Amino acid sequence: MGVVYLKTREEIEKIRISSLLVGETLAEVAKIIEPGITTSELDKRAEEFIRDSKAIPAFKGYRGFPSSLCISVNEAVVHGLPGKYVLQEGDIISVDCGILKDGWYGDSAYTFGIGEIKPEVQKLLDVTKQSLYEGIKMAIAGMRIGDISFAVQQHAERNGFGVVRELVGHGIGRNLHEEPDVANYGRRGTGGKCQEGMVIAIEPMINMGTKNVFTKDDRWTVVTSDGKPSAHFEHTVCIMKGKADILSSFASIEEVVNSRKVTV
Ligand code: MG
Ligand code: MG
Repeated sequence: MGVVYLKTREEIEKIRISSLLVGETLAEVAKIIEPGITTSELDKRAEEFIRDSKAIPAFKGYRGFPSSLCISVNEAVVHGLPGKYVLQEGDIISVDCGILKDGWYGDSAYTFGIGEIKPEVQKLLDVTKQSLYEGIKMAIAGMRIGDISFAVQQHAERNGFGVVRELVGHGIGRNLHEEPDVANYGRRGTGGKCQEGMVIAIEPMINMGTKNVFTKDDRWTVVTSDGKPSAHFEHTVCIMKGKADILSSFASIEEVVNSRKVTV
């Protein structure tokens, strides 16, 4: 285990600025998500918005990753590469974004449905997002990291879904990835102690079918072994006494998503 950095009030506010900017970026992307657009067009829009905001897309160049967003379509779990793929009605896409501003990182992800999606796929999205919030409820001083992991796993598995083991959440701050690892499965009362000022990214990756995944030949895209869809939601969260402080936000994203749901 490496060092867990506890953040000061001032540092937490800097991480909040970066994390909220991630939410604003994902909201900008949400505005143009529709059948017929390519994933590289979404990535281009995100990068423009981030740079216009005097910030740096954290994923671009990270271990050689070529893009500002990870865009993972349908059976892709995470780390999908933006490219020529044209979004189709009924697809789901996880859009994951990291931003560096003023020396501090923010990280958040949201899974969008493209047009009408099947009810069982909508349930996967709802359960995955709720499993994130179940984990956040445990992100309070005095609990253990395993309590967060257990809460995420419990909610997903209770609904019959598979919890990815190979990829985990993480500490975040001066670095995109810091200690501790925050797995989406685990046992209550195990792992490191949650301390006030610890900032972590909690990010359930939940599969409709098997929990098993593999990495494609592009050496990035992680996909489900059975080809069934996978969802991913992520918040950057500060552990506090009594209640976690969620530093990122889905509010702007969901404002866009809800305003684009046209009822006839
Ligand atoms: Mg992320
Ligand atoms: Mg992350």
